[in-house]
Amino acid sequence: MNPTSSFPASRPHAGRVAWITGSTSGIGLAVARHLASEGAAIALHGQAAASAETDALVREIAHTHGVPVRHYGLDLRDGSAIAPLAQRIAAEMGAIDILVNNAGMQHVSPLLEFPAGKWDELLAVNLSAPFHAIQACAPQMLERGWGRIINIASVSGLVGVARKPAYVASKHGLIGLTKSVALEFATTPVTCNAICPGWVLTPLVQRQIDALAAREGLDAEAAARQLLGAKQPSQAFVTVEQVAALAGFLASEQAAQVRGAHWNMDGGFAAA
Ligand code: NAD
Repeated sequence: MNPTSSFPASRPHAGRVAWITGSTSGIGLAVARHLASEGAAIALHGQAAASAETDALVREIAHTHGVPVRHYGLDLRDGSAIAPLAQRIAAEMGAIDILVNNAGMQHVSPLLEFPAGKWDELLAVNLSAPFHAIQACAPQMLERGWGRIINIASVSGLVGVARKPAYVASKHGLIGLTKSVALEFATTPVTCNAICPGWVLTPLVQRQIDALAAREGLDAEAAARQLLGAKQPSQAFVTVEQVAALAGFLASEQAAQVRGAHWNMDGGFAAA
């Protein structure tokens, strides 16, 4: 520790700005906390406008890690609003050095009943929003000679899952986008990689557990066991902190030559 400060001496991202989409809960919030602990200023982002809850999060992260933190609310279904938000963050916090495309939504339904509107919304949030955000943030990264783009895909980007056609398509697409961007920037100091988590216990998954419990008349614990049992050989949830640590590695100098990777952290899900 630095004797004059209560924060760790090793703050590799001090002076850098990280924008993590969908970071008011779950994996995104853990990634925000991790990057803040490494000194990055944090642009928190969620679908909703600021609230007492987001104000408290901003204060807590800023106080714990001694970094600037601001909250930005934007519904990412509106693709045309993404570049203006990136410009606003850059104007208020500084150019974005680390972009984590984390925001995502899920809709579970048989293909034949899948609402076309849900397909459009899900693709907009899970796939088109990362495209718009990368397009908005990459020019300054290239100009400044450093950048990290990390896309939170899913094991559903590697294997098919029934009754999730839009989610599976969006996450396969996000991995394709990751590879394309990584190759385009391969000779620059800007990297682009994807993380593919298996089941992580977050609000997004809790909703699926609750639906399973209601459908099959199970208690929450039995429904969680059934969810894991079907797909995740370790029979244990991945934790948000574990995903955040992997994102932290991909943002590090040591990962400068990790490019276009889709790295699964899934308790063996994709190995089965
Ligand atoms: P979560 O529900 O806690 O977080 C999702 C975030 O996305 C929230 O902050 C929400 O505000 C934001 N978001 C959703 N729709 C949005 C919209 N229209 N506009 C703006 N923001 C929007 O869920 P999570 O599990 O932490 O999910 C984070 C990412 O991880 C998602 O991309 C998800 O697909 C991916 N993922 C999750 C799991 C898992 O098991 N939880 C597994 C693999 C991948």
